[in-house]
Amino acid sequence: MTVLASGSKGNCMVLSSSRTRILVDAGLSCRELFKRMRAAGEDPETLDAVVVTHEHQDHVQGLAVTARKLGIPVYFTEATHRAWMRWMVPQKRMTYADWLEKRKQGLGTGDVEMEGDAETGDFTADGVAPGACGGTEVEEQTKVESDPCRLPAVEYFQAGYSFSVGDIAVSSFTIPHDAVDPVGFVFEVEGIRVGLATDLGYVPPNVAQRLRGCDVLMIESNHDLEMLRDGPYPWSVKQRVMSRVGHLSNDAAAGYLEKNYDGQATYVVLAHLSESNNLPALARVAAEGALRERINLLANRLVLAQQHEPMASICL
Ligand SMILES: [Zn+2]
Ligand SMILES: [Zn+2]
Repeated sequence: MTVLASGSKGNCMVLSSSRTRILVDAGLSCRELFKRMRAAGEDPETLDAVVVTHEHQDHVQGLAVTARKLGIPVYFTEATHRAWMRWMVPQKRMTYADWLEKRKQGLGTGDVEMEGDAETGDFTADGVAPGACGGTEVEEQTKVESDPCRLPAVEYFQAGYSFSVGDIAVSSFTIPHDAVDPVGFVFEVEGIRVGLATDLGYVPPNVAQRLRGCDVLMIESNHDLEMLRDGPYPWSVKQRVMSRVGHLSNDAAAGYLEKNYDGQATYVVLAHLSESNNLPALARVAAEGALRERINLLANRLVLAQQHEPMASICL
């Protein structure tokens, strides 16, 4: 697996088996996403699907453009898909009912489009797609996207249930976060289990339970409480981040690692670190303190996912 970006400015990772390759969230512009994949030695053209945790901008920024460029399906819960559409079309140019109607009529698939949209910043200032994600610039300048929400295919899953994409088994679980239907995932790839739980206000028992037996555990370590309290955010935002549906603090992540984590992971990845309210060293120290008894050469190697560059790939 390769974490391309992690943090409030964009989240995105690639998970691969020998046959299947999926993108988990698309919180970077398509251009940046492709650039980082190539920098990490991955070919974007080999992606088979995108799987989405929730509709917040830092997880879906480049979703539509990326899915259209690659012609790949997007896996959402139905509520997250609806919320994403509302975010994409704030003026209600198309409602969910319209979309369903269109889908029934078999429209909205295969029409000519421009690969970019103003909402996600994938246009250049004059409204011309930058052409960095593939395809020729001439092509892109002559295409017009009538429906910014159009996706090559939409696949629904239910939070708490499992599905598969190729030979990757995906099991989802509900997380406490202020989105309509947010989920974490455990992916099972050729016998290896990868758990992902970011964007959660606390770790409820169901989440701790679902994260047992993971070989790679990616857990949020969003903020240092003191830095958040003294930091630049308005009080309302601070309250939101600290709430039970906000983000996991370093201390909360450490508390989970100390008390509820089963110690089985080869790698523990600290993720979604805030740039304003955290320091990598603080997150690391908190987690190391919690894992002290368990750190050895074979398990619990602690790594930090980064915002601005891909993390070194983890191959098991
Ligand atoms: Zn997020
Ligand atoms: Zn979020």
